[in-house]
Amino acid sequence: MCKHCSMEFVTGANSGTTHLRRHINVCQKIEEEERERFALGKGDDLFGTSNYRFYPELTLSLMTLLFIDAEIPFNVIESRFWEPAMRSLRPEYRAVKRQTLRNDCVGVFKAGMGVSLKEFEGLDSCVSFTSDIWTSSVNLGYLCR
Ligand SMILES: [Zn+2]
Repeated sequence: MCKHCSMEFVTGANSGTTHLRRHINVCQKIEEEERERFALGKGDDLFGTSNYRFYPELTLSLMTLLFIDAEIPFNVIESRFWEPAMRSLRPEYRAVKRQTLRNDCVGVFKAGMGVSLKEFEGLDSCVSFTSDIWTSSVNLGYLCR
């Protein structure tokens, strides 16, 4: 279990540690500086072909971060071409449902929000947050970050 985010991993004599090292690169609870330091120290290619193994939980974590970072609408995974496209990359891939992706994105948000709120706990001063709602050219509402 990751001591930072509590994600659980397969263990055993034949499991190795590659999936654990990969998780360090994507775990949102580990400071970016620490992740970079680890990556530099190991010099690993995250997806080098020599020792590659498929870890569905890693793929799901990366997809969640991709959807957040690129602001991809969740309904993209409902396209009839989504699963065939993903399975062409990795036949073992099984598409998650839109609700699962949504829940994972909310989990990433809450984890980040928890870190942010902890940073403010030690302050003696007041902090105010403000936000604004925008409407895109295709009439979609956005809450700006
Ligand atoms: Zn973690």
